[in-house]
Amino acid sequence: MAPKKLPTAGQESSATTVPPSWIDTHCHLDDQAFAADLVEVIQRARSAGVHWMICPGTSAASSQAVVQLAQSQPGLYAAVGIHPNAAFEASPLDWEQICRLARQPGVVAIGETGLDRYRDFTPWEVQLEFLHRHVRLAQDLELPVILHCREAEEELLTALHQAADRGPVRGVWHAFSADLEAAYEATELGLYISFAGSATYTNKKFELLREAVVCTPDDRLLLETDSPYLVPEPLRGKQQRNEPAHLLLVAQRVAELREQTMEHLSDITRSNAQRLFGLPPDAASEGPSSRPPRPEGAF
Ligand SMILES: [Zn+2]
Repeated sequence: MAPKKLPTAGQESSATTVPPSWIDTHCHLDDQAFAADLVEVIQRARSAGVHWMICPGTSAASSQAVVQLAQSQPGLYAAVGIHPNAAFEASPLDWEQICRLARQPGVVAIGETGLDRYRDFTPWEVQLEFLHRHVRLAQDLELPVILHCREAEEELLTALHQAADRGPVRGVWHAFSADLEAAYEATELGLYISFAGSATYTNKKFELLREAVVCTPDDRLLLETDSPYLVPEPLRGKQQRNEPAHLLLVAQRVAELREQTMEHLSDITRSNAQRLFGLPPDAASEGPSSRPPRPEGAF
């Protein structure tokens, strides 16, 4: 699919000469699904205006891979962590490696971590212990944390309240799929809310999610694809793999639901991502073509 042909919101001002640019705050570009054509995938993203991508690790090996990606590809940044579904097989050495990688250039967050009752590969106590470890590391390094949550909203919020007793909890609830009340409590804790392809789904069970899309404050809103997962409508069911260029389909639906222009949505989500992840200021104002190469050790 040619990303240039993606529909636009139709509400955009025709006076705008620079097309909106976007940050995909969660895509797994180290996934096997991209092994054969990653260069083309990144190129398609840039052509679609998605100039910056944050790639979270899911294991020690995956975290190492995303750090290498971030250090070799302009516009790519890494988060390091062990996914709750992978925590059951993580060794103490794996955790040591995460702590080392967390200090590498190009790393802008800790994660992804979280709680998952839907796929409970990892015993609950181990999931909780890993969640607290990640949040503590993030607090120690003053980095944001990237949170995954499936069917464990109350438990996640309880754990985060405990963490907040130790110090500020900065981070994002990624691929948010809970209800407005959970979104409200999360933003009160200081979290950002990131919406993915699920915000484009029309099933009844996503009605509560749409309420959260509408009501999340401008200054807490982020967008993501969660590639290669969560293919947005209207591609859902038609293709297996999601990719960062499809962020525009998520953005368009979110813009419609919030009754905002694509320019406004692009502006607020870019500056939110820049603020949360400490991206260089040019990541929120200029295209990558006008931007000098990122100096080594800038983070
Ligand atoms: Zn993820």
